[in-house]
Amino acid sequence: MIRIGACCGRLSGAGATPYLSAMASPEIEALTQALSRLPGLGPRSARRAVLHLIKKRETALEPLRAALEQVAERLATCSICGNVDTTDPCGICADPRRDQRSLCVVEEVADLWALDRSRLFPGRFHVLGGRLSALEGVRPEDLAIDTLLGRVEAGGIDEVVLAMNATLEGQTTAHYIAERLERFPIRLTQLAHGLPVGGELDYLDEGTVAQALRARRPVA
Ligand SMILES: [Zn+2]
Repeated sequence: MIRIGACCGRLSGAGATPYLSAMASPEIEALTQALSRLPGLGPRSARRAVLHLIKKRETALEPLRAALEQVAERLATCSICGNVDTTDPCGICADPRRDQRSLCVVEEVADLWALDRSRLFPGRFHVLGGRLSALEGVRPEDLAIDTLLGRVEAGGIDEVVLAMNATLEGQTTAHYIAERLERFPIRLTQLAHGLPVGGELDYLDEGTVAQALRARRPVA
């Protein structure tokens, strides 16, 4: 004879420890919160990511931990170009196959990475660390402009590509740098205006970035 329900009698007995709400431990909660602060991830996606990491400990959690540890230990800003990498000089500056005669000037590291993904620029880069902005009080001495002039002054550079964002501040920065570089015997070019006005390099698809690089032209 089958006795349905006979096994469940003791589960809800009086005096049992009140069951805590389904919150994760402080450590897991801290991980979720850290992830939820990343760009493109909200609390919901962070929770999903954490659950995935917990379920796939060997194939997801451990490799992620190893990668984070290695990057955190070795993270360095390139003393030549301002790129962020795990070596100084960075992989691009240290690569002998790169054309040393071409230098591409960008506002931020994200722009460098966006342009390099296009694989159309064989030269090296220079990261300014921002753009001139009267509103935010960013002056020329706040950006890596002197080190850029130093690199050009040292010689061996034929072309400088001004790859600022197609924003008002980006273009102001480009004009300012063009004036400072006027005295050097170099070809000064800038990205073509195929970029959307108000757009930022980091958000564009690789095709648009590639098109803009191909159609770069001398500064008027
Ligand atoms: Zn570098």
